[in-house]
Amino acid sequence: MTEDSPNKQKLTTASGRPYVEHENTQSVGNRGPLLLQDFILHEKMAHFNRERIPERVVHAKGTGAYGTFKVTQDISQYTKAKIFNQIGKECKIFLRFSTVGGEKGSADSERDPRGFALRLYTEDGNWDIVGNNTPVFFVKDPKKFSDFIHTQKRDPRTNLKSPTMMWDFWSLNPESLHQVMILMSDRGTPYSYRHMDGFGSHTFSMINAANERVWVKFHFKTQQGIQNFTGPEADAMRSQDMDHAQRDLVDAIDRKEFPKWSVKIQVMTAQEAKIFRWNPFDLTKVWPHGEFPLIDVGEIELNEIPKNYFAHVEQAAFAPTNQVDGIGFSPDRMLQGRILSYPDAARHRLGVNYEQLSVNACPFITNNFHRDGAMRFDDNGNDSPNYFPNSFGDVAPDLAYKEPAQELDSSLADWYDRNHGEGDNDHYTQPGNLYRNVMNEAERKNLVNNIVTAMSGVSGPKRDQIINLQLCHWFRADIALGMAIAKGLGVDVESAVPKQHS
Ligand code: NDP
Repeated sequence: MTEDSPNKQKLTTASGRPYVEHENTQSVGNRGPLLLQDFILHEKMAHFNRERIPERVVHAKGTGAYGTFKVTQDISQYTKAKIFNQIGKECKIFLRFSTVGGEKGSADSERDPRGFALRLYTEDGNWDIVGNNTPVFFVKDPKKFSDFIHTQKRDPRTNLKSPTMMWDFWSLNPESLHQVMILMSDRGTPYSYRHMDGFGSHTFSMINAANERVWVKFHFKTQQGIQNFTGPEADAMRSQDMDHAQRDLVDAIDRKEFPKWSVKIQVMTAQEAKIFRWNPFDLTKVWPHGEFPLIDVGEIELNEIPKNYFAHVEQAAFAPTNQVDGIGFSPDRMLQGRILSYPDAARHRLGVNYEQLSVNACPFITNNFHRDGAMRFDDNGNDSPNYFPNSFGDVAPDLAYKEPAQELDSSLADWYDRNHGEGDNDHYTQPGNLYRNVMNEAERKNLVNNIVTAMSGVSGPKRDQIINLQLCHWFRADIALGMAIAKGLGVDVESAVPKQHS
């Protein structure tokens, strides 16, 4: 504490030495050059020069909050996860929302899926559900992910966003149609992060105390109600407030209007999975609610904006790798790809010891034989053995945590065509159902307008080829939808339709 104010702390160097002058650098005389020995100048500048860490290659623009998860229903018949062993049980959570394709400074109201990355700090370890606000995704094999994302980023020559790249890729990958339809609907421009649903999207396992496995999907239903911008409203918000969704979340929590979502699961047995008409592990498909009803599980509430954005939100590193006993993976190819890719991205962005940062650290005991590495800032295992097996320590694997073996339907390794299995090349039924059976008239109209606006941006020598191919996909989802889009784009399809004889 300083003499003039008993509450003020002394200014110090990073190494703790109190010092006197923070604004003026030592110089030779009043107008002379600066002295190298005033190292504080270098300490300040050198630290400033290193303030930015690599921005996430996807989901760069985001916001986050802490809160709680509370169990409201007994689902112990499906899972032995300790977090679910008692109704009313609570655990701390961290939830990060984001857009996907834009850079860190991009607008919150862009047409884009929204990230919905949830971490539950459970007593059995951190459990991450790294989801989106849509139940499906653009591709079903992770090998295509980087190609897809390149089309959402900037053209290599013009450095501009390119509708031509986007629609070229989508038209050549019809498995994307379901996600593209949701993206082009008003759900592609949510009013705020509070007013949208979240989905775990992938299929996961749940394993109960008898070591029986079922397949599950996670749903987070907003209790604030779904609210979206129309296309023109989203465009207007982009110029009015680039950070609208960030502001909305912070302001709501500061006002103590804590946003909530109901947590639900869908459950599919191994037998049901075998006879399901689509691949239950295909991330471009949903499980219809009529056949696999939503089961109530609990509730999440966000109630605390972290005191420091960089420390908590920017340094948060989620990974679907982080499952807990009683919950596990599935053969979903996209999930399998993300299991490796997410921790790899975090090691690049934050360093090998990123799991020690407070937002990422398990608040309960962790024991392993990882040692050293850049920025190891805990006690590095102290003097305990750093190898296994050893005769000195008492850290050992616990066989009680073994998952039941998975039965696979083939032992042949090959590059299976993406549409190899039964129902796998049906990219049209589910988007068609969404358009015909779920959307109301106004939503259908806005969908068509949004698609026409977006496809009108396709240009260059391949324009007609790309537009015609994509139109075929819309037609295959629903004839009326295809006709409406063709009309909006000024494409004459009537002449191509065979005339009926009276
Ligand atoms: P249901 O009528 O039982 O469920 C429809 C689902 O669609 C609800 O979850 C609803 O979410 C959501 N929804 C409503 N309007 C839109 C919209 N404009 N864009 C995207 N989603 C919307 O039907 P089914 O389960 O049989 O599925 C029919 C189609 O609905 C699917 O093919 C799929 O395209 C879409 N859908 C299905 C989901 C699922 O998990 N089964 C999840 C989301 C979409 P809400 O309750 O928040 O309004």
